[in-house]
Formats: sequence, structure tokens, C-alpha cells
Amino acid sequence: MKESIPLTWRKIPERYGLIGTKCETCGKVYFPPRPICPKCRRKGRLREIKFSGKGKVYTHTTIYSAPTGFEDQVPYVIAIIELEEGAKVLGQIVDCEPDEVKIGSGVEKVFRLIQRDDPEGLIHYGFKFRLV
Ligand SMILES: [Zn+2]
Repeated sequence: MKESIPLTWRKIPERYGLIGTKCETCGKVYFPPRPICPKCRRKGRLREIKFSGKGKVYTHTTIYSAPTGFEDQVPYVIAIIELEEGAKVLGQIVDCEPDEVKIGSGVEKVFRLIQRDDPEGLIHYGFKFRLV
């Protein structure tokens, strides 16, 4: 099982490290990473970038009825975060009451346990966000 965890991280680097792609031709950033810039097509030159993890709340919602494996976390806040690099990412906001989260609130990435009872028996960690 110890060997499986790094393997899981390698399979999903964008969830582990908040990695996206940036098109050097037009400057647009993408998350999750894309193989092709839809704007530039063949002219696009994409490179991997690691986001700072800082951004602000673009929109948010509070979840009161959680999917299997997340029941003990309700209520919790899911938000679309607009990262300072320009991409938008969906993530959970932790360490606060749901009514503290407002559109425009500043947030930063934190590294947290996401799910413990995965069908493969793995423990998944990944990024969440907290208010700053
Ligand atoms: Zn482009």
C-alpha cells in the first residue's frame, strides 16, 4: 500500500500539485492541463505550469447532502476559484463556516486528505483551499 500512494500521485499530478498548462502563443492558462490550446490550435505552444495556489472565490455553493465517502464532512463549501494566473479550478474550501465564504474572498491552496475509503484501498490527498 505504501508503494501505491506515489503511483496514484503520478497518475493524477494535477490533483496533487495543481499543475496546468500555459499557451506561450496567446498566454492563456488551462486547468486541468490541456494537450492543445483550443484558441491557437497548431500554433499554440503549451508548457506545464505549477499554479501558486492563490486566487479568489469566483462562485460558491454549500453542500448539505454529500456523496458516499464524504458524509462526515457536511455541510461543506465547494467553490470555483479564479487562480491569480487566470485559470479557474473547482475545489473545496476548508477551515471555515459556510457563511464566511463570499464571492471575491481571497483563498490559498492547502494540501489535505480527500478520500480515505477508495475502492482500491488507497488514501488520496490533494489540494483544497482556505480563506486568507
Ligand atoms: Zn493559445
